[in-house]
Amino acid sequence: MKNLKVWIIAGIGAGSSLLIFMMIIIMIIFNVNLNSSCDDSESAANNPTSATGASGSWEKKGSKAYNTAKEVFDFWVKKGMSGAGAAGIVGNIGGAENTGFVLDQKEIGGGSGGGLYQFTPYTKYLNDPKSDKSWSAQNQSEVVISLEPGTVKSYLSRTKTSSPGDAATNWMNMYERPSEKAKESTNGARRSAAEKFYEMFGGASITANESILGGTVDGANAGEQAQSDEESVNCGDDSTSVPGSWIWPFKSVPKSGPSLDTAQKFGNDGGFRTNSFHDGVDFGDATYNGDIHAVHGGKISKIVKPGEYGVSFYLVWETTDDGYGIAYQEFGNMDDIFVKEGDTVKTGDKIGVSRPGGQEYSHLHLGISKEKDLGKALGKSFTDDGTWLNPVDVIKKGLENSGAGD
Ligand SMILES: [Zn+2]
Repeated sequence: MKNLKVWIIAGIGAGSSLLIFMMIIIMIIFNVNLNSSCDDSESAANNPTSATGASGSWEKKGSKAYNTAKEVFDFWVKKGMSGAGAAGIVGNIGGAENTGFVLDQKEIGGGSGGGLYQFTPYTKYLNDPKSDKSWSAQNQSEVVISLEPGTVKSYLSRTKTSSPGDAATNWMNMYERPSEKAKESTNGARRSAAEKFYEMFGGASITANESILGGTVDGANAGEQAQSDEESVNCGDDSTSVPGSWIWPFKSVPKSGPSLDTAQKFGNDGGFRTNSFHDGVDFGDATYNGDIHAVHGGKISKIVKPGEYGVSFYLVWETTDDGYGIAYQEFGNMDDIFVKEGDTVKTGDKIGVSRPGGQEYSHLHLGISKEKDLGKALGKSFTDDGTWLNPVDVIKKGLENSGAGD
C-alpha cells in the first residue's frame, strides 16, 4: 500500500527539522530515482546486469567467484541449512547482491553498503563484535548470524523442505529486504541463481539440521533481534483483552491518538501514492513498535501472502461482526504474525509484532474498511470512495463510546 515508508522512518529518526528538509529532498529525488539510496542492496540490485562478466564467472568451476560461492554455501550447510536454504542465500548474492562474489565489494553506485551481504553501512560488518575485519566469506557469514540470529534461525526453519527458488525469495524478504521495486526486478535472478547453485553444489542431498543453528542462535541471541520462538507463539493474551471495544494497535500510542506525518496519515498523502490516497495509517517503527494488538474483536479471515492480491508483504485480514474489515500489514515474514486463519481475536489480543530497527518495511499499515470482502476492499486501495475509513477516527470514536483504553 505504500512505498515510501523508508523515507518516513529516516525522517523520524533524524528529527523533525531534518524531516522537513528530507521531505523536500524526497520530492526531488522521487521523480528521478525512487531507489537511489533507499536500502542496503538497491544499487546492486537495480543493476543486476552490471556485473555480467563476474556473474558468469561463478558458474565456472575453479574461478574465484565459484570458490567463494562454495565457501559461503559450505558455511551455511555446516550451520545446519538444507541444500536449498544454503543455495537460497548464495543465490541472493550471486543473483543480485554481489554477483562477482567480491569479498569487500563496496555498493555499486556509491551507496554505503558493502560486502557479500550488503552490510549497511559497510562498517556495520567491521564494528560487529564477531568481526575479525578480514572480510573473509566465513567471517562475514558469522557476522550475519551475530547481527540477525532470529532471522537466520527462522529462515533455516522455513527452508528445511522448500525449493531453492523459494528459499531465495525467503532470504530476500527476510534478510536482504530490498525495496519493492528492486524485489520485482531481481527476484527472478535470485531464484534462478539459487537453483543453479543447488545443482552445482549437490544441494539435493543435504538435509537441514535445526539443532546446530538453534544452539548457535540461543548462544548469540541478545537484544532487539530476538525473535519469537514458534513454540511460544500465542494467539491471544487475555490480560490485554477488552472485548467489544476499540484500542490503538500499540501500547505506546496515547489515548489521544498517534502522531503522524502527512505521508503516514489516512487520506491525502501529499502526492506519494497512486491518486495521492493512503487507505490507512502507517505507524512508523521508530515511534511505534513491538506487539501489535487487535484494535477490535473479530475473526482472522485470511492471511495474505506476498504475491496474492497484488500485496508485497504478509497481510492479516480480520473481519468483525459489526461490519468492518481490518488490515494489519507489511509483515516481512510469518514468524512476526501470531495468529492464524480462523482464529477469533478479542480487542487487545496480539496479532503480531513490528520490530524496531529502521528496515524498510518494519512498520504497521493499519487499514479499516467497511467492506468485509478482502478482494473488494483491496480493489479500492487507491480509491477514496468511502470503502476505506480513517482508522484514527474509527478508533477514537470507539474509545469514546466504550470509555476504555488508556
Ligand atoms: Zn500505509
